[in-house]
Amino acid sequence: MAWKTFPLTVVRTDMITPTALSLTFERSDGEPFEYKAGQFINVHFDADGQPVHRSYSIATPPDGGVFEIAMSPVKGGLATKLLSGLKVGDVIDASGPYGRFVLRDDDPCRYILAATGTGVTPYRAMLPALEKLLTEGFTIDILLGIWRREEALYAEDFIRFCDEHAGAVFHACYSREMPDEPQEHEREGYVQLHVAALDPRPETDIVYLCGNPNMIDEAMEMLKAREFPTRQLRREKYLPARV
Ligand SMILES: Cc1cc2nc3c(=O)[nH]c(=O)nc-3n(C[C@H](O)[C@H](O)[C@H](O)COP(=O)(O)OP(=O)(O)OC[C@H]3O[C@@H](n4cnc5c(N)ncnc54)[C@H](O)[C@@H]3O)c2cc1C
Repeated sequence: MAWKTFPLTVVRTDMITPTALSLTFERSDGEPFEYKAGQFINVHFDADGQPVHRSYSIATPPDGGVFEIAMSPVKGGLATKLLSGLKVGDVIDASGPYGRFVLRDDDPCRYILAATGTGVTPYRAMLPALEKLLTEGFTIDILLGIWRREEALYAEDFIRFCDEHAGAVFHACYSREMPDEPQEHEREGYVQLHVAALDPRPETDIVYLCGNPNMIDEAMEMLKAREFPTRQLRREKYLPARV
């Protein structure tokens, strides 16, 4: 497949948890970068002389200017090595945007937006759009599954958003280590169990699932048993690349 790539210049790098790296880019060919909240880009590079690409969800709301991704490192990973070594001013090749994991023209309902790890980035990009939906009668639960508190990327953004907006609730779900003094938004156990604990119903709810394929499969099984139609289940699996 011939990809239509464009250059991206790194304008900022930040460690946003002990392991997750945020990279902020701008297009360096002078063109605007237009996308919908929830979409992803492909990063293209050569490995052992072969062209490869990896996908990364966009973590910031669309505004035509700079945008951010968050990368969780994978041991021995090709893109992990490339992205971890980037410095401000470096240029990489990318293509996109891609994906249909976006907000649609739904009637007011409860959105259950669940993710593991960096899978929460699409929901961060959606925050301004979600703010508008809250004024239209939607309610929103945002659930992030990680091992422990220190890995809860962008948690402050979701906590602030939910503090400021009645109708929005953030749940940080820890599968390995619960803090000694949990805060109101902190839960113990796998994120999919907390999706189930919200008692999702097809009459009132639409569910978005993003990140770890096993989490998504388990949640899908539970939701299908509850007779959710496919159109109310939206997912983005972070499947490892085949090359
Ligand atoms: C639509 C989409 C969006 C994505 N968005 C993001 C994102 O926003 N942030 C992000 O960090 N990642 C995201 N991913 C995953 C990302 O594309 C890469 O797969 C990931 O960064 C690993 O790439 P790598 O080249 O470093 O590792 P690779 O070189 O592909 O893999 C190295 C080795 O690790 C194994 N491996 C790969 N991934 C995993 C894993 N998750 N768990 C355990 N073993 C693994 C591989 O099978 C291989 O043996 C997304 C994936 C998809 C499909």
